[in-house]
Amino acid sequence: MSRTFFPSVHQTEKIGIICNLKHSGDHGKDSGDPEAEYDSMETVQAIQAALIRHGLCTCLIEQDERLSEKLRSEGITMAFNIAEGRGGRGREAQVPALLEYLNIPYTGSDPVALGISLDKNLTKTLAAAAGVRVPFSVLLQNGTDDLPSDIPYPVIVKPNAEGSGKGLSENCVAENREELLEILQKEGPNYPEGLLAEQYLGGREFTVAMIGNGKNLQAFSPMEIIYRHNTQRSFQVYSYRIKCDYRKYVDYRCPAVLTPEEEREMTESAKKIFRSLGCRDVARADFRMDAEGRICFLEINPLPGLAPGYSDLPMITASAGMDYDDTVYSIYQAAAGRLGMYRITAPDGEKTAGEVSAADWNDWHWQFRNRIRSSEELSQKLPLCTQEKHEIDEVCRSFRMAVTPYYLSLIDPEDPHDPIRRMCIPSIQETVPCADDRVDPLNEDADSPVPHIVHRYPDRVLFLVTMECSEYCRFCTRRRIVGEEDRAISDREMEAAVGYIRDHAEIRDVLISGGDPLTLSTERLETIICALRKIPHVEIIRIGTRIPVVMPMRITSELLDMLKKYQPVWINTHFNHPNEITPESAAACRRIADAGIPVGNQTVLLKSVNDDLETMRELMKRLVRNRVRPYYLYQCDLSRGISHFRTPVEKGIEIIHGLQGFMTGFAVPKFVIDCPGGGGKVPVDYNYVRSCGGNEYVLENYAGKIYVYPQPKEEG
Ligand code: SF4
Repeated sequence: MSRTFFPSVHQTEKIGIICNLKHSGDHGKDSGDPEAEYDSMETVQAIQAALIRHGLCTCLIEQDERLSEKLRSEGITMAFNIAEGRGGRGREAQVPALLEYLNIPYTGSDPVALGISLDKNLTKTLAAAAGVRVPFSVLLQNGTDDLPSDIPYPVIVKPNAEGSGKGLSENCVAENREELLEILQKEGPNYPEGLLAEQYLGGREFTVAMIGNGKNLQAFSPMEIIYRHNTQRSFQVYSYRIKCDYRKYVDYRCPAVLTPEEEREMTESAKKIFRSLGCRDVARADFRMDAEGRICFLEINPLPGLAPGYSDLPMITASAGMDYDDTVYSIYQAAAGRLGMYRITAPDGEKTAGEVSAADWNDWHWQFRNRIRSSEELSQKLPLCTQEKHEIDEVCRSFRMAVTPYYLSLIDPEDPHDPIRRMCIPSIQETVPCADDRVDPLNEDADSPVPHIVHRYPDRVLFLVTMECSEYCRFCTRRRIVGEEDRAISDREMEAAVGYIRDHAEIRDVLISGGDPLTLSTERLETIICALRKIPHVEIIRIGTRIPVVMPMRITSELLDMLKKYQPVWINTHFNHPNEITPESAAACRRIADAGIPVGNQTVLLKSVNDDLETMRELMKRLVRNRVRPYYLYQCDLSRGISHFRTPVEKGIEIIHGLQGFMTGFAVPKFVIDCPGGGGKVPVDYNYVRSCGGNEYVLENYAGKIYVYPQPKEEG
């Protein structure tokens, strides 16, 4: 997917992937110790494909003696660095140092952070200084000469400056001084940078992945490495051999089962070390518990492996709902943001409106202020012919347009049928009248006892707190409200609405909607929620919002800290297409879930957007991966100017039938029609009951097979 209004130039930038390739063996992972940390061609190609899929131009550059020459001749504007270097304690720093010398920006940590983190002893010293618990260790550089007498056995002996479990095996654990001397004599000559004798911790082992920088540094939930087979001496060592053959020896559990306090300590410690070493963009930190269950830091890897389906980091991000492409792209984005490479580009790749800083791009106020509201503004971001501009102007006379720069960036400018485009850019079809169109299709105004309250169902109300949205969806059912003016309810209107709820003790559930309530300031929203929370019979507060989809940067910690004070709060969001689930929107959903707020999703079935089984299946899978529960699939309403989005009801039934049984039960939404005229939601489903009568039900299962369920026999 390419982007038009996004923090990268795409068509003028060229990303060079700098790597060391495995040359021995078959490009697999098990190609022997000397190349243990190098990447296979499959991995490098997967990274390249991920960047290309996100619209970036790339080339591969292998680190060899001609690297400097290649960097100059390729004309890259940024390097995606995964090179491990070519020997020595400072090897990982070699490529970044050269890139800095040539003034080429790059992803990942700088030479100093890479140099320090490769030195396990030095890293642990800095971690301890930052207040993180580390196990006892001693660096042995002179063979057996400097062996202290007070070592707490057993100890594991590791090369001080190697990664990927290189030089580690179960035979590296010494239970007494004699065994330690033997290991040192055998291994010492192989590792001139020294060996580290570290207290062996017998507890559980974890690794934490991190992506981002500064306030946006995200530490993912830890992954536990669970040893399946005890090794010959019952010491569990995550060695290179085990990593290569991990299916045989270990299981991975992600997220690990930890108490909230343990998880917090581990992720916070990981971030602390990341920051104290000056790491950037991406890293992975390893931890182990001691026999008492205390969490100890082992090492950090600012150049973690990215082999799809094999390396720890992509496994961790996958379990958090990020697919491989998005993981790679997030690393690129972290670097681009840090380097201030966010910029606005015209369709032809030329800069037009100046650069946008990362801080601005990630600031929801900036996104809101810079919404695209006219055909003129839009034509600077998307290629539009005169006719299209004219048509957009004509539609906007009846139904206005607003699109956040972020949401616009998801459109593929080359594809006139792009689903995101269809959902946010006006189409002349909106001006074609349809006999079934209604101004208020759900007859909400008739069920409104006081302005801004819709009281249709016995125990719950809809509270419309604003007429404003960050983006005006072309399929909106509430166009009569959001299409007119940008206005939130006044204090007086709020008091009247809250008063109505207070006076009706049967109301136990309030759905705050609009417009989009999250366009309000956090303070204003808190005033409303706080007033509702003071009403004893209001048990649940729900917020209906499309903000995580169209402006995910609005999901700030300030907002979530406020909402957490008024639990139970639920958020229902509105993803319609898998392309809307980006690293940014997925992270927003995860932040909401992490705040203890359940997230549901409603989808509207839209012709030529999501009216096919594969699209819907992918959407539901991605939602669930991001801890968002699919809730309703709506048949499109009869609102004015949206008839071109309507599909036959049978299409929805067909899609639900194709999901049911083929994916996790709670990943299948309920297909409903909101009855025209105000009849409320009615579930519509495939009829799995073939017949009933007598004493049995004849049922068809998801695969079309027939089964009979006997009814209980009547007594007597
Ligand atoms: S965010 Fe909701 S209320 Fe606003 S335009 Fe979109 S569908 Fe309508």
